[in-house]
Amino acid sequence: MNRFNVRKVAVLGAGVMGAQIAAHLVNVRVPVILFDLPAKEGPKNGIVSKAVEGLKKLKPAPLGVPEEAALIEQANYEEHLDRLGECDLIIEAIAERMDWKLDLYRRIAPALAPHAIVASNTSGLSITTLSEALPESIKPRFCGIHFFNPPRYMALVELIDTPATTPEVLDQLEAFVTTALGKGVVRAKDTPNFIANRVGIAGMLATIKEAETFGLGYDVVDDLTGKKLGRASSGTFRTADVVGLDTMSHVIRTLQDNLGEGKRIADPFAPMYATPPVLGRLIEQGALGQKSGAGFYKKVGKDILRLDPAKGDYVPAGGKAEPLIDRMLKKAPAERLKLLRESSNPQAQFLWAILRDGFHYAAVHLADIAESARDIDFAMRWGFGVKQGPFELWQAAGWQQVAEWVKADIDAGKALSSAPLPAWVFDGRSGVHTPEGSWSPAKNAYIPRRTLPVYQRQHFPEDVIGAGGVEPLKSGTEVFSNEEVRVWTLDGEVLIASITAKLHLISPTVAEGLQVALDRAEAGYKGLVIWSPDDVFSAGANLEALMPVFMKSGAKGIAPELKKFQDFMLRLRYAQVPVISAVRGIALGGGCELAVYSSRRVAAMESYMGLVEVGVGLVPGAGGLTYIARRAAEMASAANAGADILKFVTDGFTNAAMAKVGTSAIESRKLGYLLWSDVIVPHKDELLFVATQQARAMFDSGYRPPARTPFPVAGRSAIATIKGQLANMRDGGFISAHDFHISALIADVVCGGEVDAGSLVTEEYLMALERKHFCSLLENPKSQERIMGMLQTGKPVRN
Ligand code: NAD
Repeated sequence: MNRFNVRKVAVLGAGVMGAQIAAHLVNVRVPVILFDLPAKEGPKNGIVSKAVEGLKKLKPAPLGVPEEAALIEQANYEEHLDRLGECDLIIEAIAERMDWKLDLYRRIAPALAPHAIVASNTSGLSITTLSEALPESIKPRFCGIHFFNPPRYMALVELIDTPATTPEVLDQLEAFVTTALGKGVVRAKDTPNFIANRVGIAGMLATIKEAETFGLGYDVVDDLTGKKLGRASSGTFRTADVVGLDTMSHVIRTLQDNLGEGKRIADPFAPMYATPPVLGRLIEQGALGQKSGAGFYKKVGKDILRLDPAKGDYVPAGGKAEPLIDRMLKKAPAERLKLLRESSNPQAQFLWAILRDGFHYAAVHLADIAESARDIDFAMRWGFGVKQGPFELWQAAGWQQVAEWVKADIDAGKALSSAPLPAWVFDGRSGVHTPEGSWSPAKNAYIPRRTLPVYQRQHFPEDVIGAGGVEPLKSGTEVFSNEEVRVWTLDGEVLIASITAKLHLISPTVAEGLQVALDRAEAGYKGLVIWSPDDVFSAGANLEALMPVFMKSGAKGIAPELKKFQDFMLRLRYAQVPVISAVRGIALGGGCELAVYSSRRVAAMESYMGLVEVGVGLVPGAGGLTYIARRAAEMASAANAGADILKFVTDGFTNAAMAKVGTSAIESRKLGYLLWSDVIVPHKDELLFVATQQARAMFDSGYRPPARTPFPVAGRSAIATIKGQLANMRDGGFISAHDFHISALIADVVCGGEVDAGSLVTEEYLMALERKHFCSLLENPKSQERIMGMLQTGKPVRN
């Protein structure tokens, strides 16, 4: 296969999706030009400029750091068409109108590079019909690329080909979307709304209908159909409000216009696509959901109200699932479904009904909309944030039994369509996912996953239940394990340490396990990678595990324990082999310290790093502040700033004193917890691969640990300057007296204590200061209040 280099991408359309797709391209360091129509008044790039400005304020944040919005190049079709020639990929995301899209394609066609791939982000228009208007030369390089909103966070991208698309083009695009954008690709057929929106919106319509049948309020339904059911926490109606009721109605209209008797495609479920009367009424009143302040819900002051359709007015919300139902939902799938189905409780009957409708819909449509059952399950996981897709759940609950139940309901007229389940459902199978592949009714076979080279970068790709996916923590060759750490290797060359403790909290047991890992790595491997299969790196030190020591011997007993952690951090830093922290999700407090003392960090885009000890009334005690002091000295030296270190330590001080946490890997880097030499990895499932590659490459390049030399600190005058500013903040009522106290202790360590500016200190000296302050705070009643509060409620105490 020829390499497909994406030097630059053009995004056409700076609306909700186009602007956010451009932002995500910036996040992953792909140069991007964002186009829109020329503004009628003012600067011609006005529409794009406004959209780019809007990206900085949008929540959830589309950009890793807001100021990087400036990296999006701005353009309009009147002045800059020729710049399309610079782009290897064109993503069209203009308004959902076939005629407008076709007009635009005609206009841009002459300006495109001959090799460029052109892809539409349409949610519902036929890709094949769109392609028909294109010049013959572009047709083989045209396809659909369907992102989900918000594109930074939603993992799914559906790729849709036409009969004219060259297969190689789609393979190239799949590799780019996977590795460079970090997305999960599902190949969808060119059917209305493709896979996720087809199944997902049908599910929402079914939920609205069954909620009416069983007389449940929207708040109760959301509680029942949120986290408890393994779905997105916003449930059904809040999700609709967030998406926008007009957008939702648009997607529903695509179903109405294209599916059913005499339309593009026949569909026995067509009658269910009618716009629910309540949705129609809300849209008519301009209640479009969150963006217009009211929808199924309305916020009045601090109160959340829900629509009561019977009253036609909003009433206080807050209805929840009954405890009985909570208990049922905690059972294993087979028992859960049986209990729900057999219960006479309306909430249970409602849940069984929507699950049944989901199974029914997915089975009837599988052959037409997807290549295999896996694609429907992945589309629902990645596009709608569910933990399990419909087929996975069905299979896990017992295929034949559930099939019989669904059939009985169809026969009894309880289902939303009288369409029978397809014959393959009853051919004696025990499910649709097997280790060989997933069921494809169209091909009458089990289809394995695609084996593009890009997937070799995923050692443990996310898999659907029932497909026999390998469990990372049971794989490879185990070298050592204790209750909270597994040390293992995949290739005999690089050692992997996986923390298995809850939230990967660092206890003495974890420290011991990591210590063994390091010893073994130095003795016979090329390097050590600290990686775990889930989305937490480490939430920090396990304070509870230190409690017994504290109770017995007070802070004096903790000091030696803390010193062990600090010594271990230095062991990591000066190890004979490279140590790579593969960060994903939170790396807080001690977790952040573990990462910054590694030789290098490989971080997933969604990594949230910070020294947050202030929240529990403490200072970072396992080398975090020493790291800040050393980094400041390094930066001052790089900038030839002589002894003026205060300038370089201020940011590090502020980040620790305010317990700032990076909201992305990019922001974590801005805070100084990742370095420019570290690697940011867009796809979570490629993290382990990249980390092991890094370890191997560093070792093979002749790795030596950094030199152990003393470095200059900012000293007592800098401490006085910082304390002066802190005093102003305290006197102005911005921070409490205790905040002042802790911040002053932080300043003391990062500036090196009572020494002259430019004095040389060692890491051990600074760590002793850290220890002293950490232990003094442990005995401070205000800090104790913060610790107990956190342990008891999980929330920081402000005192
Ligand atoms: P939007 O209305 O926010 O933005 C559309 C953009 O198209 C605007 O910037 C507008 O200036 C531009 N535009 C309008 N008419 C044009 C014309 N004649 N020629 C060129 N540009 C024109 O829309 P959106 O929600 O960002 O949707 C864009 C595309 O993405 C649509 O095809 C939509 O179906 C699809 N999509 C939307 C979502 C979503 O959740 N909003 C999700 C996935 C896909």
